[in-house]
Amino acid sequence: MKVVIIGGVAGGASTAARLRRLDEKAQVVMFERGNEISYANCGIPYHIGGVIKERDQLVVIGEEDFAKLFNTEVRTNSEVLEIDRAKKKVRVRDLKKNVEYDESYDKLVLSPGGYPIRLPIPGIDDPRIFTIRNLDDMDRIKQDLADRRPKKALIVGAGFIGLEIAENLHHLGLMVSVVELAGQVMNLLDFEMAAAIHQQLKTKKIELYLSDAVKEFSASQGLEAVLQSGRRIKADLVILSIGVKPEIHLAKEAGLEIGLLGGIKVNSKLQTSDPEIYALGDATEIKDSVCNCPALIPLANSANKQGRIVADNICGGDSKYDSTPGTAIAKVFDLTVAITGASEKKLKKMGLPYAKVYLQPSSHAGYYPGAFPMLVKLLYDPNGGRALGAQIIGSDGVDKRIDVIAAMVQMKKNVYDLARLELAYAPPFGSAKDPVNLAGMIAINQINGRNPSVYWDEVPGLKKGGAFFLDVRTRLEYDLGHVEGAVNIPMGEIRSRLNDIPRDRKVVTCCNQGKTAYFALSVLRQHGFDNVFNLAGGYKLYKITTLEQENVGIFEGTFIGKNDELRQAPASGGRFFQIDASGLQCPGPIMKLANSLADKLDGDIIEITATDPGLKNDITSWCAATGNVLISVADADRKVVARLQKGTKRVLPAGGEIPHDKTIIVFSSHLDRAIAAFVIANGAASMGRKVTMFFTFWGLNILRRHERVTTKKDLFEKMFGSMMPRGSLRLQLSQLNFFGLGPKLIRFIMRRKKIDSLENFISSAVQSNVKLVACQMTMDMMGIKREELIDGVEVSGVAAYLGAAENADTNLFI
Ligand code: FAD
Repeated sequence: MKVVIIGGVAGGASTAARLRRLDEKAQVVMFERGNEISYANCGIPYHIGGVIKERDQLVVIGEEDFAKLFNTEVRTNSEVLEIDRAKKKVRVRDLKKNVEYDESYDKLVLSPGGYPIRLPIPGIDDPRIFTIRNLDDMDRIKQDLADRRPKKALIVGAGFIGLEIAENLHHLGLMVSVVELAGQVMNLLDFEMAAAIHQQLKTKKIELYLSDAVKEFSASQGLEAVLQSGRRIKADLVILSIGVKPEIHLAKEAGLEIGLLGGIKVNSKLQTSDPEIYALGDATEIKDSVCNCPALIPLANSANKQGRIVADNICGGDSKYDSTPGTAIAKVFDLTVAITGASEKKLKKMGLPYAKVYLQPSSHAGYYPGAFPMLVKLLYDPNGGRALGAQIIGSDGVDKRIDVIAAMVQMKKNVYDLARLELAYAPPFGSAKDPVNLAGMIAINQINGRNPSVYWDEVPGLKKGGAFFLDVRTRLEYDLGHVEGAVNIPMGEIRSRLNDIPRDRKVVTCCNQGKTAYFALSVLRQHGFDNVFNLAGGYKLYKITTLEQENVGIFEGTFIGKNDELRQAPASGGRFFQIDASGLQCPGPIMKLANSLADKLDGDIIEITATDPGLKNDITSWCAATGNVLISVADADRKVVARLQKGTKRVLPAGGEIPHDKTIIVFSSHLDRAIAAFVIANGAASMGRKVTMFFTFWGLNILRRHERVTTKKDLFEKMFGSMMPRGSLRLQLSQLNFFGLGPKLIRFIMRRKKIDSLENFISSAVQSNVKLVACQMTMDMMGIKREELIDGVEVSGVAAYLGAAENADTNLFI
């Protein structure tokens, strides 16, 4: 038997090696267009970045050794030009000698791979623009880096390979910009998961442009990419990484059937429409194990396994390649990003029923050093619980969790199976309930109706619909950030403050990750609240979706800083302390820091190390709000290390800019003063300033709804409430009130002069994102309930106002 193989890398070389093991007598001829065979193209980004030092390390086995070991005729620099199925032969060109000849076959194997897509746009042929498919491409890029020493690189396309290249060029010291057509990186993932990657890219100072595309390259003033938005990005080097297409021209011209998605069609034995011809790898269309639909999955693990199956079948076996969940994993700086099975957007597109859970467990027991947080999203079928897919992002332990879930997805197991899996556990490696078990358990709770959930993308609609957001975290956690308008009742106080929670509104409990909120939800349901939902994934997940996702224009000024940002030199003196907050999830590190500061003196320097990257954001706002001086925040070995000096010194934001925010304390409930306060607030907002209005004591009346709201109040609260004006329409003037005539007169004059009413001023303020904060303490004192206030008001403690005041250059008391 003579077997001819086209393509000598992942699929082709695997087929040849297995063939020889099965049949010592078969004649095997392997054609490869390139210079080398059997190399690891997956390692290419890391050799470019110098992480894999030696080029030879990428070559699994050289041509001569392969030929000897597997008794195979390896012909490199040989391109197959045509297949003659009738005569069972292929036409080959020897690219070195430039001669053509025919080679007959009994069985033919196609493993020609996929080619990187090039954009048909002006300027694309500039020699500074590269694609990456093989070692030759890699060599060209490495040579260019050595010869021209480019300083700035542009990556077009933020898929797995694009981001690997971005990281490696950054590692070499280049400034790296990434442009992506979609509104997120790694489009295989769902948006909220990609949002975590956006934040990581931002902290690494990768310039990130989303929802934009290159429409041409211009070389008039150095190489420049012109984007659809009109933005121009200068770059010394461009890598196109916008996806691969199956290489099918040989198959197509030979009349082999091509699938719906443009890959070579194969059956489960990997035979093409001609049973004498097999095909595998990136060139083929295979079956998606979740959606049962055709899929193009250009992954090395599939190609390698398929090689074994093809060889088995050629040698008379009956091996099947059933389907794939498309499990993929990549390293993006300090993060590991992995996916298996279907994403939510794919399930939606296919119209398949699904439910989802989020969890944020640690990579191993939090009490053992070095635990890193991870974000897990599990998708399952609500009818029966079949596991449909998962996405995991974290720094450690992501690979083993995704692999366990991948196995379950592929074997069509369900969430009950996930919950009962017995997995290896000792503190350095995992937790007694592994994240995989927990994902199953949370899904089961959801199926049983014990944990009805709402999701991050529903929050704006829920707020509009009047839902009551109940934040059950501690006051400190709440002060570090919360869903706008959420009311803070810490978990420990819920049972004694049930009267503060409305029974006639939808209640959404939220905490950091969804766990404490689930406990609160259970308490509320057992006290008769029947319209309660948990914000799945908690504030942490919600927050990453609401942050700025791009990192636009960071290289336009002089900003070229990489990891370490020195904010302020410490004042002299002071003792030095270190705190290890590894394993704690945000805001755990901040809380540990806050507690430890209690016995420190002003001027002492504290260094905190945490494994949760969220510390990077939290510590900046926390220091600004508390008057401690942030000295530096840096990444070190996947950890965040921050240094601060205890004190009361004002910290300027990064870049040293003087703050321009405005804060107004509204104490009065007089109409004229309220108008003045809102005129100033709207004016400042229109100048692009952040404005916070803190309503306390009588000022709270301005925010009351005009209509009567039934709430539970005791006698004193009722009396007090009835004596105060209910809402802006009932406010009196501070002077010339004339038994109520004054306010009417002033409103009449305002109408005549075409000046907006106070009510319009208030709604303009809300629309301009002026933050209206009602003082929690005075509300409690005066018996004003949350539901009596107009929409768009946040109920907070004085810390919210003080935090805003830290960043303000104007602070008015009205
Ligand atoms: P290839 O391995 O591409 O081999 C096809 C070969 O066929 C080519 O060498 C080509 O020259 C040759 N050929 C084509 N036509 C002819 C012809 N007419 N005559 C002769 N020879 C021909 N996958 C992962 O799973 N994980 C990763 O981390 C990963 N990282 C990657 C990083 C990079 C930079 C790249 C480029 C790919 C990566 N992949 C990764 C994808 C993986 O490399 C491919 O899925 C896999 O190599 C596909 O195997 P294949 O045999 O189908 O094609």
